[in-house]
Amino acid sequence: MKCVRCLHDTAGLLTKAPDGSGAWEMYACSRCNFTWRNTEEDDVIKPELRDKDYQFTQEPEDLQILVPVPPLKK
Ligand SMILES: [Zn+2]
Repeated sequence: MKCVRCLHDTAGLLTKAPDGSGAWEMYACSRCNFTWRNTEEDDVIKPELRDKDYQFTQEPEDLQILVPVPPLKK
């Protein structure tokens, strides 16, 4: 599965809603450690709609600072 932040095929299902309802699934990327739920807004889970400033375009070993996290929405 393609990661929505680093765009590598290194993401997969992490867990599902524990009540078995199928209300949400959570995915995680083993390359950039990003996690997201399938129920988040399109500007979080669709790479083409994500803010490019918060995409992970580096190689993990080249990181000298952490990739910033977007501010919380109110
Ligand atoms: Zn990733």
